[in-house]
Amino acid sequence: MRILLTGGAGFIGSHLADRLLEHGHQVVCMDNLITGRVDNIAHLAGNPGFEFVKHDVSNYIFVKGSIDYVLHFASPASPVDYLTHPIKTLKVGSLGTHNSLGVAKQHGAKFLLASTSEVYGDPLVNPQPESYWGNVNSTGPRGVYDEAKRFAEAITLAYHRSHGIDVRIARIFNTYGERMRHHDGRVVPNFIDQALRDKDLTIYGDGTQTRSFCYVSDLVEGIMRLMDSDLNGPVNIGNPVELSVLDFANRIKEITGCKSGIVFEDLPVNDPRVRRPDITRAKEKLGWEPKVGLDEGLKKVVEWFRNNYPG
Ligand code: NAD
Ligand code: UDP
Repeated sequence: MRILLTGGAGFIGSHLADRLLEHGHQVVCMDNLITGRVDNIAHLAGNPGFEFVKHDVSNYIFVKGSIDYVLHFASPASPVDYLTHPIKTLKVGSLGTHNSLGVAKQHGAKFLLASTSEVYGDPLVNPQPESYWGNVNSTGPRGVYDEAKRFAEAITLAYHRSHGIDVRIARIFNTYGERMRHHDGRVVPNFIDQALRDKDLTIYGDGTQTRSFCYVSDLVEGIMRLMDSDLNGPVNIGNPVELSVLDFANRIKEITGCKSGIVFEDLPVNDPRVRRPDITRAKEKLGWEPKVGLDEGLKKVVEWFRNNYPG
């Protein structure tokens, strides 16, 4: 297939590009590099199956040649990034999704949206099944990301119902791995970066809030299976092993062997208290579940940070 991958120079997008090329597909990677990096795709330069187009997908998208699948991954994803770029985040979730769906419609291509666990907001149900409607504060600071993705889901299914586009929606939960930027503000790169410099780990709030972390190779496998499925509704893709941010900080301290302490800082507004995917649907319909344990994944990423961001 010839695949348009928006956000392909980002953390997840670049890993997905690698896997798609391994499977013999052609990848047109479209990215404006707002939070992505050319370094993430530099190794693909010269690969005859790979093209990079620098473009903001919130503006009209033109792609030369045929397209069989559109994978829409473009969007700031770290809370620090989307709080820095609130309007661009709203635009890429709304206009960018609209334009990407337009490409799928024009080419008769399938479409997959990278949605998020943030559509559940600060959930009142734990773990979160796809049937849960969520608890989002539309006017709070995180609303720019949550509502953009909720709109993206709504327009994706409207294109399916009104135009017959064959769509998929992946609700991605916290994913970590190599190629995350050390300063992107998310908890995994923050803690690893701090630990490798023997700086205090910054816990926001009291650290009792929970998250469930999925290693990127597992996530990519889930996306590949979802692409090949016939599921038009949302599917949670994440690792259901839940732990508190305090326990997570202690895992990082143990794995890195750092001399860091812990400092407690203010909890960001509307920071979800709990988050854990119910992956029953992915297990039953995709035969998918994560394979890489937290310590195993973190050891790889710590090693990558040591080599790529030497102190
Ligand atoms: P990332 O910031 O590394 O990648 C996002 C990419 O999109 C970047 O390369 C960025 O430059 C590009 N981009 C943003 N706006 C664009 C625009 N208007 N036009 C073209 N390109 C644009 O983040 P990531 O973690 O790789 O996330 C990728 C996708 O997965 C996002 O849609 C995100 O919402 C979703 N997601 C990620 C996670 C996670 O834990 N990593 C969780 C849930 C959802
Ligand atoms: N967090 C933290 N210290 C940091 C960065 C994040 O305690 O240096 C917390 C954050 O408040 C949240 C959790 O870690 O409760 C996960 O944050 P992240 O930014 O990775 O993503 P989120 O899951 O909130 O989208």
